[in-house]
Amino acid sequence: MTDLVRARELDAADPLRHARDLFDLPEGVVYLDGNSLGALPKATPGRMEQVVRQEWGEGLIRSWNTADWFTLSQRVGAKLAPLIGAAQDEVIACDTTSVNIFKLISAALAARPGRKVILSEPGNFPTDIYMIAGLEAQGLARRRLADVDAIMAALDDDVALLMLTHVHYKTGRMLDMQRLTKAAHDAGALVLWDLSHSTGGVPVDLGGCNADFAVGCGYKYLNGGPGAPAFAYVAQRHQAGLQQPLTGWFGHRAPFEFSDDYDPAPGVDRLLAGTPAILGLAALEVGVDLIAELGMGALVAKSRALSEFASGAIAERLSDLELASPHNPVQRGSQLSYRHEHAYPICQALIARGIIGDFRAPDILRFGFAPAYLRYEDVYNAVEALAEIVTTGAWNTPEFRKRAAVT
Ligand SMILES: *Cc1c(COP(=O)(O)O)cnc(C)c1O
Repeated sequence: MTDLVRARELDAADPLRHARDLFDLPEGVVYLDGNSLGALPKATPGRMEQVVRQEWGEGLIRSWNTADWFTLSQRVGAKLAPLIGAAQDEVIACDTTSVNIFKLISAALAARPGRKVILSEPGNFPTDIYMIAGLEAQGLARRRLADVDAIMAALDDDVALLMLTHVHYKTGRMLDMQRLTKAAHDAGALVLWDLSHSTGGVPVDLGGCNADFAVGCGYKYLNGGPGAPAFAYVAQRHQAGLQQPLTGWFGHRAPFEFSDDYDPAPGVDRLLAGTPAILGLAALEVGVDLIAELGMGALVAKSRALSEFASGAIAERLSDLELASPHNPVQRGSQLSYRHEHAYPICQALIARGIIGDFRAPDILRFGFAPAYLRYEDVYNAVEALAEIVTTGAWNTPEFRKRAAVT
């Protein structure tokens, strides 16, 4: 049986085959970058039109009450919670992942007086590491980086917080959340998980792993749109004492009392700082509703099957291409990364053929498999194009070698 026949059979038997039609994808494009910017749900433009024209245009300021804008951060957080194994009152949608990391590193330092070290891995997503630098410059934190396979040995009684990304953005390697959380707790430290490449793509059980804090993006597998608000998770047991430094009025117990004294809201609401971005939250809600409706079980199963299909086809066609992701699909996120010294122009040549993956410096070709809208036949076509580009050297033109600002 050819791979194409097999791909069509898999598509015909796919329990999520109806889901692609819930997205607006351009004709002739194979989108392998849903892990970086998710696709547009068909329901989003209508909802945006409604929020802008009715809720804003007609409702004006009344809509804070009548359209429930005031509790939108909490509502989106509560809908997101089951996707990551959290209780509804443990998650809030707000700000960016970067800003939420800053708040929660600070909260961990406040909860572990006498300890200053924030432990992470070299090569973690830059913003995660840079946020430690800002606190370090104020004398509040000290950065320690240790290879993730040796991270247990780097846990000592100076460590306030172990901060790791659950699915690595470059390699797709997925860490053992249960084991690492326990190791950090055994050393008296707290844990902050970055779920940016996990939420909506892989199973996550923050509650079952006894995690303390987590953050993640709204614009990747959740399809919330460019710059969508992020989310933050705080385990119930930490909420009452949580101290975060961005003590803005929306995190106050009663913002509309306009008191001169900051009195934090009792729950996860105290992570709010300023007025929530209602347009962004409204678009994110559509994406979260859609993913929740499709169900994490079906999404995870398809994500693994898609990446298995892709890695098998690539191994057959391009046996020399070096896989930078774990071979075992349960040890990786919903992506495959390959190393090639000409990864950048290869990626450009693919994009010119409508196959949108991405390049991560210095030599990674990254393909994300967003299970909600990707078909096996799309993956088949992508592998065919990749094999043709690599074996013929079609990538080797000045046009494909020229670097754009955003890669
Ligand atoms: C995408 C991503 C971010 C992005 O943070 P922003 O504040 O939204 O720019 C942070 N961390 C990880 C691990 C990511 O993959």
